[in-house]
Amino acid sequence: MSAEPRLYIDADLAENAEIALEKDQAHYLKNVMRLGHGATLKLFNGRDGEWRAAIDHVSKSRVDIAVMDRLRPQVAEPDLWLLFAPIKGKRIDAIAEKAGELGASEIRPVLTERTVVARVNTERLQANAREAAEQCERLTLPAVHDPVKLTDIVAAWPSDRSLLYADERANAAPIAQALAGKAPGGRWAVLIGPEGGFSPEEQTLVRGLAQAVPVSLGPRLLRADTAAFAALSVWQAHLGDWRDGDG
Ligand code: SAM
Repeated sequence: MSAEPRLYIDADLAENAEIALEKDQAHYLKNVMRLGHGATLKLFNGRDGEWRAAIDHVSKSRVDIAVMDRLRPQVAEPDLWLLFAPIKGKRIDAIAEKAGELGASEIRPVLTERTVVARVNTERLQANAREAAEQCERLTLPAVHDPVKLTDIVAAWPSDRSLLYADERANAAPIAQALAGKAPGGRWAVLIGPEGGFSPEEQTLVRGLAQAVPVSLGPRLLRADTAAFAALSVWQAHLGDWRDGDG
């Protein structure tokens, strides 16, 4: 891991741009990392690639940076949503963090019949995904959405997006077998159920989608967070940017 801090910022990035950092990021550089004038860092904004910048000015209340040179151009990243039924405690934070590292482009909590979590702190999920994106060197930030009902998202499912449906009970094809022969890239989503599993009605509903690809993740019943990491990883290895020449 690089010792140079790496930050996501909203501002446009271009040579010689001067940027005043947000309060939290200024505090992080100044008080946590204890960096001063001249120290360098890396920046990305999801649009302009990755840039090196240097701290230009530090005062009590702000840190200004000057953008120097571009280190990497922006490249297209996989279009892979993660749909998951929210789970309790720290494991939901881990889902946002690992989905960020595993290259999910969007994180979408879905409310199912057996979802037991009533409230989802999307701001906290976004903070976890952002921190993961910063440390793992990706060039984009996954978008975190507010929870929606599974029935609503299925009713409006985009015709051009395949749905990799982790189906632990029915006779689904093993995931590697289901993905073999599919064209790399494309628009995809992974769907993971709650700890109590999908109801029979939900299984029928999802399987009824023409875009659904029901898959098994093996003979063991995985916890929802483990299932999410496994499905994202296998998708990346077969169709995403873990393939030879993409990484
Ligand atoms: N309580 C449920 C049951 O006994 O049927 C298990 C739910 S599991 C903890 C949570 C979710 O992870 C499931 O809804 C499914 O989406 C996914 N999952 C876990 N293990 C799986 C497997 N072996 N194959 C496919 N999906 C799996």
